Amino acid sequence: MNPRFADVILPLPLPGHFTYALTPQMAAQAQVGCRVIVPFGTRKFYTAIICRLHDEEPATYQVKPIKELIDTAPVVLPLQLRFWQWMSDYYLCAVGDVYKAALPAGMKLESDGEEILGGFKPREEVRIRLSEDYQEESALHTLFDTLEKHPKQLNLLMRLLELSGHFSSEKKEVSKAQLMKGDVSTSSLATLIKNGIFQIYTVEVGRLTAKEASTEARPLSDPQQKAYDQILQTFTQQNVCLLYGVTSSGKTEVYIHLIQNALEQGQQVLYLLPEIALTTQITERLQRVFGSRMGIYHSKFSDNERVEIWRKQLSDEPYDIILGVRSSIFLPFQRLGLVIVDEEHENTYKQQDPAPRYHARNAAIMLASMVGAKTLLGTATPSIETWYNATETGKYGLVQLSERYQQLELPEIRAIDIGWIRHQKRMLGSFSPDLVNVMRDALAAGEQVILFQNRRGFAPMIECHNCGWIPRCENCDVTLTYHRSINLLVCHYCGHSITPPLRCPACEETDLRSLGAGTERIEDDIKTFFPEARVARMDFDTTRTRSNYEKIIRDFEQGRTQILIGTQMISKGLDFGNVSVVGILNADLMLSYPDFRAYERAYQLMAQVAGRAGRKHKRGLVVLQTSDVKHPIIHQVRQNDYQGMVAAQLADRQRFRYPPYYRMVYVYLKHRNAQLLDHLAASMATRLRVTFGDRVLGPDRPPVAKIQKLFIRKIMLKFEAGLSSARIRSLLLQIQQELLASDQFKSLQVYYDVDPA
Ligand code: ADP
Ligand code: ZN
Ligand code: ZN
Repeated sequence: MNPRFADVILPLPLPGHFTYALTPQMAAQAQVGCRVIVPFGTRKFYTAIICRLHDEEPATYQVKPIKELIDTAPVVLPLQLRFWQWMSDYYLCAVGDVYKAALPAGMKLESDGEEILGGFKPREEVRIRLSEDYQEESALHTLFDTLEKHPKQLNLLMRLLELSGHFSSEKKEVSKAQLMKGDVSTSSLATLIKNGIFQIYTVEVGRLTAKEASTEARPLSDPQQKAYDQILQTFTQQNVCLLYGVTSSGKTEVYIHLIQNALEQGQQVLYLLPEIALTTQITERLQRVFGSRMGIYHSKFSDNERVEIWRKQLSDEPYDIILGVRSSIFLPFQRLGLVIVDEEHENTYKQQDPAPRYHARNAAIMLASMVGAKTLLGTATPSIETWYNATETGKYGLVQLSERYQQLELPEIRAIDIGWIRHQKRMLGSFSPDLVNVMRDALAAGEQVILFQNRRGFAPMIECHNCGWIPRCENCDVTLTYHRSINLLVCHYCGHSITPPLRCPACEETDLRSLGAGTERIEDDIKTFFPEARVARMDFDTTRTRSNYEKIIRDFEQGRTQILIGTQMISKGLDFGNVSVVGILNADLMLSYPDFRAYERAYQLMAQVAGRAGRKHKRGLVVLQTSDVKHPIIHQVRQNDYQGMVAAQLADRQRFRYPPYYRMVYVYLKHRNAQLLDHLAASMATRLRVTFGDRVLGPDRPPVAKIQKLFIRKIMLKFEAGLSSARIRSLLLQIQQELLASDQFKSLQVYYDVDPA
């Protein structure tokens, strides 16, 4: 007998599964993991995934029929479904949220009407461009003014300009999928097309291009070989191993050999990198060795490419290796044997928004353990949690690689007291005289310089010099960021944008100035002090597209630029041969960030950035500017004392009840009405205290307490690491349900951030 019903996962943030009826014909073909099109609500249709087939007719509601069975073979494997369920349980979100994050958009089309789209078209891509009429500078400005009253359209227009590199020398085509990624308005797109502002067109795009392997892996040095052997030895007893190897010790080389070993045993390998570290440098290095056996999965790839990789992984000839970012943990694997998490300490492995708010490192460890695969965590600056697990709890093995390849020396780190220099009024813009001097020497010697500016807190703003007025977003509780290239003030949360006013709306003065030493400002400073130098800036604004990003790196690599200014992006996995000076422009901001991980992060960032300095036969120099030269973290960075840093941090964490001794869950509450929200948040905290006692802190206002017209409150929970997390989660959900039963809570949005990072 064929089953009559299918439970499906819908791409919606709703708890549980939904049951639909199969026609007899579908029933003969349907399998768990196949996609179906189902009606939901009054006129919506969704692509859903079958997660169970059965004969149990639901008693409480009328079952609707499945409209169409899309696949005759599963596109989501049983292991993946189990993994999704784990993620939904652990991170306290709907399994539909996981589904949404996991599948490339082209595999889960939704539609408003009867017409069901045919799904993924292998070689065509729909693209959007700005119509000819608006290519002219003046026409575009008039358009900005006209769209002032239509912020959503303006937002889309800005996105298109940015993605297409409209104001840069390198123009790019923009796919519709790329443009419409995230929370953007589809109806605004339709309007822009209808009004002839945007044009829509279709192009053929190539299949995944395979490059053939061209070289053998290079032989390992003795220390590398030793580490390699120890890792394999560890894996005979433990599932997870930390490779703690200083910068430039050749961890990548060790990974390559481990991958080869796994391939010889017929296993697949997943190699995870943080988004910003996945550059051509590392790609090409691996591609030379593994050629077409390796696929790359990157969020800046088009959706079609991602669909193709997904399909290939389901086929009889999947890639043996996937090199990818966070979301590649969702790809189907048929014989996964090894997961490598490179730069495991990187906090961008944690997804912040939307749900699932997962940590890709931890999720990867779980995924691997579900199939009996091994996980290698690699870094020069392990996260404190990982270090603790490798040295205290014995959960992970530990292998060290403490020698740099070819005994390259670690750089000299000089701390410069900019507080004092500022006091003496000797600062040259963002630079101390010492930094200017060593930069001058380096440039004169034909060497290169990297300048590091932490992004946090450095968003350039505009301020009225007379009264201190700062433009803020009308929807969100944040200041607007100034984008010079498009001359707009933009909200990074909701996309709302305005042209900078000529007069201060508060005092009517005209003295509006841009604030904050953003990377653009530093570029200006360099033009003042080193007018001849060729400078590149790598930050959020200049690297929206993959090709821009790679061009900046390549230009620097090949010496076309001499000074590279950047944010965290430049600290990751880049290997340049001619950098003799690294300047850390201001360590204070990293150290003053209000977060229990601030010191750990500051150390990691500075140690990683410092690791970029040094050349074959010359010791590198790091100039570390701070007004707190006596700060313990500054001392530890200078001494390269990672373990000293960890010991001090662990003591603090234990004392103040933070991870790894306690696990944290943030409960976020959102509502349109601030007063009501305060009331509901207070009652929720009271209710939580009944169950969890003084493990509950708050409610508080988070740093950004309003987004898109919704006010936000946060309740913080801290649990002893020994408590059962499954039990805690079920209690939390129980309390939420209990509260939601009361009417006033119905309009409240509640979500969780488990193990916030
Ligand atoms: P890490 O990832 O530990 O910071 P890398 O893997 O980037 O270090 O290695 C640093 C440099 O040393 C790179 O330029 C790399 O090509 C070189 N290198 C490392 N190991 C070897 C090896 N076994 N043979 C040849 N070159 C190596
Ligand atoms: Zn003013
Ligand atoms: Zn906003």
